[in-house]
Amino acid sequence: MPRIELLVVQPTPFCNIDCRYCYLPDRNSKAVVARQTLHNLFSQVFASGWIGDCLSVVWHAGEPMVLPIDFYRDAFRMIDRMKPAEVAVAHSFQTNGTLIDEAWCAFFADEQIGIGVSIDGPMQFHDRHRLTRSGRGTFDRTIAGIRLLRRHEVPFHVISVLSPASMAAPREMFDFYVEEGIERVCFNVEESEGDHVSLSFGEIGVEAAYHRFLSEFWRLSAAAPGKITFIREIEHAIQQVIRPADAPFHNQLVEPFAITSMDWAGNISTFSPELLGLKNSAYKDFLLGNINRDRLADLPHRENFIRMLTDIQAGVEMCRERCEYFSVCGGGEPVNKLAENGSFASSQTTYCRLTKMRATDLVLDALERVRPSGGFPEGAFYAETDVRR
Ligand code: SF4
Repeated sequence: MPRIELLVVQPTPFCNIDCRYCYLPDRNSKAVVARQTLHNLFSQVFASGWIGDCLSVVWHAGEPMVLPIDFYRDAFRMIDRMKPAEVAVAHSFQTNGTLIDEAWCAFFADEQIGIGVSIDGPMQFHDRHRLTRSGRGTFDRTIAGIRLLRRHEVPFHVISVLSPASMAAPREMFDFYVEEGIERVCFNVEESEGDHVSLSFGEIGVEAAYHRFLSEFWRLSAAAPGKITFIREIEHAIQQVIRPADAPFHNQLVEPFAITSMDWAGNISTFSPELLGLKNSAYKDFLLGNINRDRLADLPHRENFIRMLTDIQAGVEMCRERCEYFSVCGGGEPVNKLAENGSFASSQTTYCRLTKMRATDLVLDALERVRPSGGFPEGAFYAETDVRR
């Protein structure tokens, strides 16, 4: 039976800004999800038997804050009324931060909403790509939103998309976060997804540049304790490298319905959330059905789901056979395999070389330096037997 861990809900495809690397095809559409569609989604999810004690809901795939606060108040109360008593629902927003004001901060605090803000570092990096529709930079508005979050003590993290320029400037990036009191950071590299072809991936030496950036950023953070408390890439690599030998690695992105995504119209997809809204000549679209017409329980039997699953599983097997990082990766991200290799049934990508292999290398190098002379107890480090064998 599938197990839904994360629901990605697109309240609207619309975004109030127009980033150069955005992969969302319908970001000019002002469509809004209907209350009945949300009701159908959550009633089916709660009745499915596919969820555990905790369900994470991310409101994303457009700018969630273009809708009024009352839209979410109403939606959250409806979801609360429908959910089984034993299930905890944790909501979060991924936002460009430009619309944050006092009222939103109060709402975030009241509802304990997890907030991720997209900011690409200081103005000279951020404003190269994150632009308004008229082509002006959005840095001033985003940083104003972050400062408001801090003033209201709303916990948040940032996601920064690294460009070749910011990758070459780890000190500037570090100083910027520290100056702005940003403690939790996640780094993405501009990816090839859908029709968007990453310019960063075409750069010669991008892997070495990424490795240097992350290494230096980690070193700076370690040298100034308490300033940067969370670097997602490092934390994840540590968790994956250091774990009991019998703990299997779980890759949500290749597990059917572990991540379930719904667009504003009620269309359902799974695996990589970015697949929602993408089209591909081999797979057509990645929509499995519509929550307003179809039963969730029927979606695993759909022809296009079976085709996706077959190819994704073939890709995971290729990874298992060929890649020494499989034990800390679990077969990567289907959307990147499709964009870079043309098929889910494939293995290595530039994206995984950066985000999995180089990040893992950093953590392994650090462990090598602290290894006690007698070695670690047998089985203590899973990575000892699987990575760099
Ligand atoms: S690191 Fe890349 S090649 Fe290795 S398992 Fe992950 S996706 Fe596959």
